[in-house]
Amino acid sequence: MKIETTAIHAGNHSDENTGAVIQPITLSTTYLRGEDGLYQSGYIYSRAGNPNRTQLENVLAKLEHGADAAAFSSGNAAGMSAFQSLKTGTHVICPDDMYHGLRNQLKHIFSGILEFDFVDVNDENVLGEYIKPNTGLIWIETPSNPLLKITDIKKVVAIARQHQIKVLVDNTFATPICQHPLVLGADMVMHSSTKYIGGHSDLMGGVLVSAAKDEWWTKIRQIQELGGAIPSPADCYYLTRSIKTLPYRVKGHVHNALLLADFLEKHEKIETVLYPGLKSHPQHEIANGQMAYFGGMLSFCLKAGEAEARKVINKLQLFAQATSLGGVESLIEHRASVEGPDTITPQNLLRVSVGLEHIDDLIADMEQALS
Ligand SMILES: *Cc1c(COP(=O)(O)O)cnc(C)c1O
Repeated sequence: MKIETTAIHAGNHSDENTGAVIQPITLSTTYLRGEDGLYQSGYIYSRAGNPNRTQLENVLAKLEHGADAAAFSSGNAAGMSAFQSLKTGTHVICPDDMYHGLRNQLKHIFSGILEFDFVDVNDENVLGEYIKPNTGLIWIETPSNPLLKITDIKKVVAIARQHQIKVLVDNTFATPICQHPLVLGADMVMHSSTKYIGGHSDLMGGVLVSAAKDEWWTKIRQIQELGGAIPSPADCYYLTRSIKTLPYRVKGHVHNALLLADFLEKHEKIETVLYPGLKSHPQHEIANGQMAYFGGMLSFCLKAGEAEARKVINKLQLFAQATSLGGVESLIEHRASVEGPDTITPQNLLRVSVGLEHIDDLIADMEQALS
């Protein structure tokens, strides 16, 4: 089946009791045992499993071409579960512009528990230098946040394989529509489903999808159940509903992002536009090789610097100044000030989550704000 069809059907389970075409939300926290004491439905207690979560996990596993998926209450909870699954003392190699919330998680929660380095994972020499006997995981984020750097997934997987190191890809920016890291050889994929998967800026969630139901996956499932950072049945329902339109929403975001990137690149006040779909992007060829679409996120830098960047934000009418991304409405953000003093993000950079408004309106708004 094609991805549009999978998105609509793989997460739905019509209700046999009522004939409801759309699966209802199951709020019960506990499930009946039969006379034999067994659980006929397979469900026992909602932390361990819930029908809405099962369907959400089904559709996400299929969209990412994985063996199984586990849903969490946020992207950071999914990331935390991946880190918790590693043996104490494991060395993790992370990208130098890793999503700041997960970078801070490692620094503040896992220091003394795991070892980690933040490096340019796309440079094979650098990667080779940092691999140690206790390296257990290479973390990739591509396109990266907010610099839209592209990492060659196949290349990193090839290096990791030589050393029996696992590869996990934070696929949030790419969405399960634009890029399939498991098909490219990665072992696990992570998403913040708060972003494109939810798509309406109204719920939080995260997911891990595994290429195999192996020992590592058993550990992840254990952490999901015993750690308990699970999404509510209603959140699972809304995510499953959002996923039905995900392929078309993403194609709309991509369409608008490419046209906005084009407009910005030609504008005299703009120093650089970072969007993997532009031929000028330093890793455009890699992106072209591993992505079906280039995504809906872009960043740009203003020649006149930070003060001018802040002025532009304030003049915009349609782009709301707010963090987060992946919703139907366009958002813009001065990223360096969100990331704090140790950021490597340039001060004149603005990050845009290109929404689904008509592109003519978005460009007109950007044009007046830059003038
Ligand atoms: C938002 C985000 C996360 C964290 O997800 P939450 O749902 O906010 O916990 C992780 N990685 C990337 C790339 C993100 O954009």
